[in-house]
Amino acid sequence: MSLIVLAGPAGVGKGTLVRWLLDNAEGYSLSVSATTRSPRPGEEDGVHYHFVERARFEQLIADSQLLEWATVHGDNYYGTLLDELTRADAAGLHLLLEIDLQGARQVMETRPTAITIFIHPPSFEVLESRLRERATETESQIQTRLINARAEIASAEEFDYELINDDLAQTGKDILKIVSESEG
Ligand code: 5GP
Repeated sequence: MSLIVLAGPAGVGKGTLVRWLLDNAEGYSLSVSATTRSPRPGEEDGVHYHFVERARFEQLIADSQLLEWATVHGDNYYGTLLDELTRADAAGLHLLLEIDLQGARQVMETRPTAITIFIHPPSFEVLESRLRERATETESQIQTRLINARAEIASAEEFDYELINDDLAQTGKDILKIVSESEG
């Protein structure tokens, strides 16, 4: 079972890529993160995230139940539950982690065998228009995400692999190839 970290700025299409992998490949599962942010319309607890209160998240940290965690976009906690690894391991499934740069760095430290992949947008303009099309954030939230995106892109070379997501199926296939090659 491989631990696969997919990082890259918000709006780069990580969520769509993950869905492509789950739909088109055998043996993959997605880690459902815990977060203190509120659900967006259509998001379900336990499916998109485990939506928790701050106090509950802080308890998870105190109890060492997280593989990694970070405050993302200023004010909300996001983290990977160690339970997700146990579950994937028991099921013999690869585990995809869709996390931010701070979390990815923690995984690089504590799980050096993890496969880390940075997803680039085709261009910064494309990223900005995808964030605006999504229309789930306020203008100031979009600005925060764009500032964070520049910082994230600057760190891409810390990752084992870098892919440019200009064609969903191609990027998905590239990920499958990386994982199968790393299994030897
Ligand atoms: P969103 O609020 O748009 O769902 O996610 C915002 C950011 O949080 C994304 O960049 C996403 O990668 C990151 N994120 C989601 N789950 C986790 C997690 O478990 N840990 C960390 N470190 N970041 C996460």
